[in-house]
Amino acid sequence: MSKIVMKKVLIFWAVVLFVLTYWATFHTNSVKFQNLSEEDYIDQTLNKLGWPVQAGSDSVFKPVSGQTHLPVKNFYKNQSLNLFGTYNTVKFTGFHTGVDIEVSPADLYAEVPVYSFYDGIIRKIEWVSGYGGVVAIEHNLGQINLIGIYGHLRLKDIAVKEGERVTSGTVIGYLGNDYTAETDGERKHLHFGLYQGSVVDLRGYVSDKKELDIWLDPTRFMRGVSAKEVY
Ligand SMILES: [Zn+2]
Repeated sequence: MSKIVMKKVLIFWAVVLFVLTYWATFHTNSVKFQNLSEEDYIDQTLNKLGWPVQAGSDSVFKPVSGQTHLPVKNFYKNQSLNLFGTYNTVKFTGFHTGVDIEVSPADLYAEVPVYSFYDGIIRKIEWVSGYGGVVAIEHNLGQINLIGIYGHLRLKDIAVKEGERVTSGTVIGYLGNDYTAETDGERKHLHFGLYQGSVVDLRGYVSDKKELDIWLDPTRFMRGVSAKEVY
């Protein structure tokens, strides 16, 4: 074998080794990513949103009395696609007023309960185009009065009535089934929105970014009030 051929063979194997090492590193990282703890997922989600913000810099995050609860399980872990404020053009057009929490594959055919995140009064229960079943709850947190929008619930199994008082962690209903009338043809997931006010506004998208001003980022808000998962 001539020196030039040997050199070429060496370079070839060096390249193969480099590619394999690169692939192995990438593959190991992606496996690690799959095994992130819930805390890591929280950090990752909040990083995407520009967290951490300086403590006390957002007046909305004042402590409230009593425990707050996450509206559905895997609240941080399963929100990856359609975050608060994301501009959508495919099925709906506008800025997303809430967050979408997906279901884990294991829960696709299971009953997934939806919880009132705090004490409140049920203001509206109806079937609305784009949501299927939707529940609006007025939550008074002392310093602020909020309306919570809980969308894509199965209307016939909603466990509360309009005007009823609920407490933090009350089951208000269950997610509607995947791609059925229960979700108005949407995938099975929870749309959760929060805004300051007392008049019910069920919009999941707004066309003008300025309109988002009264809406809160539910992920940051839940983190700010240290909402816990209901077990
Ligand atoms: Zn949504």
